[in-house]
Amino acid sequence: MSATPSWQAADGCVHTGPLLQSVNGFDVVACEACGFSHTLPLPTPQELEHIYSHEYYTQEKPLYIERYLEDKAWWDEVYAERYERLEAELPAGRRRLLDIGSGPGLFLAAGRERGWNVMGVEPSERASSYSREVLKLDVRSMFLNEETAPTLGQFDVVNLGEVLEHLPDPAGMLRLVHGLLAPGGMLVALVPNDFNPFQRVLNESMGVAPWWVAPPHHLNYFDTDTLPRLVQRCGFEVRHVETTFPIDLFLLMGHNYIGNDTLGRQAHAMRKTLEMNLRAGGETGRALKSRLHRAFAGLGLGREVLAFARKIDDSPSPA
Ligand SMILES: [Zn+2]
Repeated sequence: MSATPSWQAADGCVHTGPLLQSVNGFDVVACEACGFSHTLPLPTPQELEHIYSHEYYTQEKPLYIERYLEDKAWWDEVYAERYERLEAELPAGRRRLLDIGSGPGLFLAAGRERGWNVMGVEPSERASSYSREVLKLDVRSMFLNEETAPTLGQFDVVNLGEVLEHLPDPAGMLRLVHGLLAPGGMLVALVPNDFNPFQRVLNESMGVAPWWVAPPHHLNYFDTDTLPRLVQRCGFEVRHVETTFPIDLFLLMGHNYIGNDTLGRQAHAMRKTLEMNLRAGGETGRALKSRLHRAFAGLGLGREVLAFARKIDDSPSPA
């Protein structure tokens, strides 16, 4: 196998770069054309649509909604922190939010409780019907694309939580989001922080298989540099970048939760306890938590990258 695989997409673009990993017949390359790492080849939109409307929440993640509800107290704090940041960035009258890939709808429900006007888009039938029937939210069962986007209206915030890593054209999605935002509106993007230094140490020095490489569900592999760069290139000013807790730290401490659900839940519970205790620690605890997560990001560490960015008005639509 060549150390720099290359693949030509239907639009003629040649994707090529150093090979990072090969898993399940997919190569992950640090793509020079895109400026971030992704699999070669990229599946067609039709192949993906099948995976997400039929398989994802029923086969891939059977306990997804149940686990979400078990963790609700913690999610409420995680989401409160995100809304606090958005409320500091936007004037009080600007509270229209669209969540793309809204899952069971807890982020939307948290916003509604704070007085936000919220809407969701979620292709999974199971997750979107939970949002509508149980949480009474306005969530549409559909994929966001050039045909469906103009039917939704205009928003002050668009949230993309764990979406961009799944898409064959994440820049195309950011272009759609740019069009959905009112002038000066905010984008919130969360993606896994992959090939991070803890993972590389675990893989290179301890022989741990690259569990984070998961094609065809994860096509793109971002980090604390490449996510902000992509967002910027798509017409946004990056306002804030932080990462979530570096849960892979537990692996380095010998608590090997890979493929072990019980150990995984234990690690997650300890992380939740840490974060809840810091949040409960008044101004000191909250400020420390915030500085800690920015510092993790500065080291390239953390399980996910979270970026807040403002739409630059009149910026040319990215090609
Ligand atoms: Zn590429």
